[in-house]
Amino acid sequence: MTRPPTPAEPPHLESDLRTLCLPTLRQQWRRLTEEATRRHLPHAEYLAELVHLEVVHRREARIARRIQEARFPVLKTLDTFDFSGQPGVQKDEVLELARAEFLAQKRNVVLIGGVGTGKTHLSIAIGIACCQREKRVRFFTAADLANHLHEAKAAGRLTRKLEQLARFDLVVIDELGYVPFDATGAELLFNFIARVYERRSLVVTTNLPFARWSEVFRDPTAAAAVIDRVVHHATILKTEGESYRLRAAQQKARARRKEAPG
Ligand code: ADP
Ligand code: MG
Repeated sequence: MTRPPTPAEPPHLESDLRTLCLPTLRQQWRRLTEEATRRHLPHAEYLAELVHLEVVHRREARIARRIQEARFPVLKTLDTFDFSGQPGVQKDEVLELARAEFLAQKRNVVLIGGVGTGKTHLSIAIGIACCQREKRVRFFTAADLANHLHEAKAAGRLTRKLEQLARFDLVVIDELGYVPFDATGAELLFNFIARVYERRSLVVTTNLPFARWSEVFRDPTAAAAVIDRVVHHATILKTEGESYRLRAAQQKARARRKEAPG
């Protein structure tokens, strides 16, 4: 079979595609035109394929931008999360969260558990799943967020900063309780949480049970108010057991001992 000749470039096509900002069409029209000729595609189908290509690429680019904008410290996904040994974390429930519908309901997620039990991993994975639904997500550690608000306040831009943050559909606050805030930090974080309450969603990870949040917010009343707001419409996931890395290392060591002769 002879290959169809490479299509000649119609005048204006490249520059028109450039003017209309259709980069994918500009890259792909030759290939698709050749293919359409070979497959004897009806014009309408060829056009539909061409346009669809641009739509798909744009969606992918938007998702990549969302993920970048979220500033996750590392990229973790649900398919690498091992749910065995985590009775407090139901896979179905997490997969449901990954559909990002909790954002429309302005619900929150709280992940509670010891160090190394997968809280950050799950919070990032849920965040990425929301980005893939084209939601706007921003990841912070609690200390980072407090610093951010501090700086904004010092520069007289706190209101603007809060408005900016309220544009995200989801804010992840990781490691609440690892570092206690100073009085201003506690107050700023409290204000932020009060502001997004029932308007936006939060994913909060913490090593502290609710009874000890007063240590973070330096004041039982403020802590109670935060708990009330965060937990009111929240899915609570308890990550349990020993550090995952420790468990994995121990399993490896056991396997090595079994292999060793004698
Ligand atoms: P935490 O935030 O609770 O301290 P991390 O989420 O940072 O714990 O987990 C520590 C490390 O162990 C990370 O590399 C994470 O990907 C991995 N990890 C933890 N739990 C799991 C799990 N159930 N399945 C797969 N990897 C896990
Ligand atoms: Mg963590």
